[in-house]
Amino acid sequence: MLIAGDWVVPVLGEPIRDGAVVVRAPVIADVGPLEAMRERYPSLPVREHPGCVIAPGLVNAHTHLALTSVARVVGRAPFPEWLGRVAAVMRVMDADDIAASCTHGALLSIRAGVTTVGDVAYGPEAPAAAADLGLDGVFFFEVLGIEAEELPQRLAEMEYPQDGESCRAGRTVCGLTAHAPYSSGPGLIQAAYGLAQQRGVPFAMHLAESDAEIRLLDSGSGPFVSLAARLAHGFAPPACGPVEYVHRLGALRGVIAVHCTKATEREMSLLAREAAGAVLCPRSNRILGNGAPPVRELRARGVRLALGTDSLASNDDLDLFEEARALRRLDATIEPQRLLSILTIEGASVLGVEDRVGALTPGRYADVIAVQTGPTDDPVGALLEHGRAATVRTVVSAGVLRVADGKPTVLSRPIEHASARVAEKAARALESA
Ligand SMILES: [Zn+2]
Repeated sequence: MLIAGDWVVPVLGEPIRDGAVVVRAPVIADVGPLEAMRERYPSLPVREHPGCVIAPGLVNAHTHLALTSVARVVGRAPFPEWLGRVAAVMRVMDADDIAASCTHGALLSIRAGVTTVGDVAYGPEAPAAAADLGLDGVFFFEVLGIEAEELPQRLAEMEYPQDGESCRAGRTVCGLTAHAPYSSGPGLIQAAYGLAQQRGVPFAMHLAESDAEIRLLDSGSGPFVSLAARLAHGFAPPACGPVEYVHRLGALRGVIAVHCTKATEREMSLLAREAAGAVLCPRSNRILGNGAPPVRELRARGVRLALGTDSLASNDDLDLFEEARALRRLDATIEPQRLLSILTIEGASVLGVEDRVGALTPGRYADVIAVQTGPTDDPVGALLEHGRAATVRTVVSAGVLRVADGKPTVLSRPIEHASARVAEKAARALESA
């Protein structure tokens, strides 16, 4: 199939007026002006998109699809209290509930033009549910609150793939994450990081997200003291910031650092030098009262950046275009090209999957979106201004049509109903607790 529009924005390469992407599932075969592509591939059908910009599927580099169904039940609260509510709700969700929640999250993501995620997973449900709907990426199996020696057992319980090859099979990558310095002890962080290195998979951590975290590490005080005593076995306040702490543990090289709202200047230099990059979640930070990521400073230091919505429990939606506009409100000097790159190829490179997604070039997976912008001479600007779930007309992932004429190609009602049932169950459990 040919996916044609007023403009094709390949990201790597200049925008093409009246362009088309040639899809031979699961990959992109060619990209160029529509007329030339028609001549070269006369037998292929053309999906035309007048008034649309064609772009790569977006990369939402940090989310928790498993929390989609229970987002409203968790509600809004200051960060330390909110974390407790998330933990309480998670405890009542069984594997079926998590699968239903992840499926709903994957549907909302695809609907908004996201085709790659960096998702925090608690078992095999998230990657399986996401792949069913055409959403792929890196699924970070999360550990916290255990001793380092318990890691193999916990990973076996979560059905984490047994060897490096199965962790990286196909489009889905199974990475690892030790949740955060206040919930994973130093030994566990090192063990999980070491295993990720050994398997050749990405490793992520929530780092420098809140004042509570900074106080705990700096002086062993504040609202996270009892949480850390319960969960972070062997933790002693290092009297430095979280990024520096992970660096001292020998676990910063190649790490995907999520949030970084409270990173110091020195830590930003460390991130630029050592980390795979930082995933910024500006709306989640604001909603949880954690301030704002230092976008301009991170850019000045040369930190590679990705963008994430975080879970629906700390955001209004899973729409990465909205997240991009929130980022631009924090740093109006960011160039449109750079912002688009963060949403696509740079985000993919932070996740370590830039060789297969994030740009419209032959050989990459055919993850393609068409966004209604109206007539424009500035396709990148128009995409960033008008992009939102409601203007995404077509989504193709790995060459398969997932959204057509603005509607998902799967039946969304049953998915929404199953998700609503999970929410009711969680609400009842929280009430009786
Ligand atoms: Zn998170």
